[in-house]
Amino acid sequence: MAVRETEAIVIRVRKWGESNLIVTFYGRSCGKITAIAWRARKQGSPFNINLELFTYLHLTYYDKEPPRELGIINQTSVIKPFYELRGNILKLSVASYLTELVDMGVKGKERNESLFELLLATLHSLQNGCDPELLISFFELHLLGILGYRLRLNTCTSCQKEFIPDYSNTRKRLEIDLDCGGISCTSCLKNNGAPISYGIIAVMRYLERTEIGRVGNLRISQAMREELRKAMSFYVFHLLGKKPKSADILKKAIQNA
Ligand SMILES: [Zn+2]
Repeated sequence: MAVRETEAIVIRVRKWGESNLIVTFYGRSCGKITAIAWRARKQGSPFNINLELFTYLHLTYYDKEPPRELGIINQTSVIKPFYELRGNILKLSVASYLTELVDMGVKGKERNESLFELLLATLHSLQNGCDPELLISFFELHLLGILGYRLRLNTCTSCQKEFIPDYSNTRKRLEIDLDCGGISCTSCLKNNGAPISYGIIAVMRYLERTEIGRVGNLRISQAMREELRKAMSFYVFHLLGKKPKSADILKKAIQNA
C-alpha cells in the first residue's frame, strides 16, 4: 500500500458506521481524494477536530488500491483550521458552496495546483471578511478558466464582433450563450440563455483580471449584484449539469445578510 503525503483542504465529511468518517479532500499534489478515518469520532481521536469541513492540513494517507475504493487516513496535522468559516451562517454557506463546486467540477485525482491555490486563497479572503457575493463570482470565473470552460467576454460567440459597451442603454440586453461558452450580442440573441447587461460583462472582466486582494474594491449596486449572481449561477449550473445542493441555502443566507 503506497503512503502519500500532501497539503489538503477538507471539502466533504460524512459519518460512516458507528465511529468512522469518510472524508473528501482537495490536495495540492493529489487532486480530489476520498479516504476513511477509522474511529475518528471516538473521544480522544485526533481526527475528531482535524477533519472538520474546510480545514487546511497536512495529510498522510494510504492510497486506495483496487478493489478498495477508499484511501485510509494515517495522520493529519492542521495548518489552518478556518474556525470562523464554520461559526458564521453566511461564511459557512459560501464556503460550503465553493467546496461543493470543486467536488462536483473535479472528477478524480488529477493534480491541479492552480485550483488548490484558488480554493485556499478564496477561503482566506472569505474568512478575512471579503464581500461574499463578489468573491463567489470571482471564484466561479477563475474555476471555469482552470477547468477549461472560460467564458469569452470580449466578442460575440456568433458574429465574433467585439462588444462596444453601451452603459447608457440599460435596456439593451445581451445573453450568455450556453452552447458556446460566451456572450451573444444584441443582433445574435438566441433567447435561450441568461440575459446579461454590458455593466455585468464589465464586472466579470474586472473579476477575471484582478487579484483576489482587490475583489472587495469593486462597488456595485444591489441590482447589479443580483444580476451578476443570476447570470453566473445560470452558466455554472448548466455546466455542472445540476444545481449544487448548497445553492438554495446560500441564496437565503445572502438575502438575510
Ligand atoms: Zn453577434
